[in-house]
Amino acid sequence: MSPEEFRRAGREVIDWLADYQAGLDDHPVLPDVSPGALADKLPPAAPDYGESIEEILEDFGLQIEPHTVAWRHPGFMAYFAAGGSGPGALAETLAAGLNNVGLLWKASPALAELEQVTLRWLGQWLELPPEWFGILHETASEASLHAVIAARESARQVDETAGKGFSLDKVVMYASEHAHMSIEKTMLALGQGRDACRKIAADAEFRMRPEALEEAVERDLAAGLRPIAVGATIGTTSVTSVDPVDRIADVCERHGLWLHVDAAYAGPCAMLPELRGRFAGIERADSFLVNPHKWMWAPMGCSALYTAHPEEFRRAFSLTPDYLRTEEDPRAVNFMEYSIPLGRRFKALKLWLLMRYFGREGYRSILREQIGWAQELAGRVEAHTDFELMAPAPFSLVCLRYRPEGLPEADLDAVNERLLTAINAGGEFFLSPTRLHGRYVIRVAIGNLLTQQRHVERLWELLQEEAARLAR
Ligand code: PLP
Repeated sequence: MSPEEFRRAGREVIDWLADYQAGLDDHPVLPDVSPGALADKLPPAAPDYGESIEEILEDFGLQIEPHTVAWRHPGFMAYFAAGGSGPGALAETLAAGLNNVGLLWKASPALAELEQVTLRWLGQWLELPPEWFGILHETASEASLHAVIAARESARQVDETAGKGFSLDKVVMYASEHAHMSIEKTMLALGQGRDACRKIAADAEFRMRPEALEEAVERDLAAGLRPIAVGATIGTTSVTSVDPVDRIADVCERHGLWLHVDAAYAGPCAMLPELRGRFAGIERADSFLVNPHKWMWAPMGCSALYTAHPEEFRRAFSLTPDYLRTEEDPRAVNFMEYSIPLGRRFKALKLWLLMRYFGREGYRSILREQIGWAQELAGRVEAHTDFELMAPAPFSLVCLRYRPEGLPEADLDAVNERLLTAINAGGEFFLSPTRLHGRYVIRVAIGNLLTQQRHVERLWELLQEEAARLAR
């Protein structure tokens, strides 16, 4: 593609995206399609000869986009804020245009250094301990896997130094029953088995119970097992509950366990002094993660992992074959020594651009606004005789259900499922369900950059209208 052709097509792509964003309010969030609808439309084999970019872009608009979900839509409230942003898309375009691959510092000094600088900036905003080492991952799942590998390596080191030996098949870790499945999956991926991640019971407000954690650790120790780590969450996926990190850290300290804190969604709220209390104890973590690709509107593929023990990651992952040897310099960080991937994308570019574009105060004011709308909605739900707030709303997620007077408990799950289906079928909103205390619950996750107060108000109207229609 010549620079002229690239320029022409690039303008067309940006124009298309700008029009798309401008028209989102009148665009359905979910496509009205059945599985296979797109696959059946496309040719069974790729072309033998190249086609013009104009033709390809036209097909993108006609065939591909209509089958996409509008994640950037103001009514997209199903999953945590992951709608990205205009400036994020521009940063991603620049990164793809340069296509630097961060094998080593030498392979892209800007990639390696910008990652360190932006993670230091972000650490300052979130008031993380300044000595923590940060590394960007594609996803929180990948970051947690690396953290648990480092935790296991650290436990092995401790035991072997003490001359005790270390048996892989004895390894166990702990997380609340509300922790994200990615924590449990680390044990699966490491071949420890799913049961090696002990699910710790939560209290009535869905927070891990430190006493139950302590009991589980003691039971496992008595059975000759080797507890290595605890995964605590600030902002759990189903309900955004906050585990008592400080008290969990006490248990970890008593038993020499690695504390991994997952704040994938809620982490940016550490910027807000008024919510700082929800992060009490994070400075005691061994590893901590936050996803800028969620509530900081970076395009997908930007999860920041911090650790107080980079040396454990290095011990676990450092392996330098001859073909990758370069001169040693302490300022030339090679991230391949701290994680599994060798090839790394220029993820820091989007974080750098976004942090400059919004600034700390910009982020703070949008987060506060969105949290405020969620609190307002929670208040309305709570005050309504026919609706029920199903959990506290410490951030911007509201868990609710319709519970009209006179309808037996046994029917409520089905009624709420129908309510959710009706809302999602309407095209204006996309909500998702969960189960809390065994009951079907509707989640309203506010956090999309294009969402405005009027959208949240409209959703509340629609929920009442649809619910009333169902009751008739
Ligand atoms: N942790 C929490 C608390 C989450 O809510 C999620 C996703 O919503 C994840 C981890 C997984 O994030 P990722 O998709 O980046 O792996």
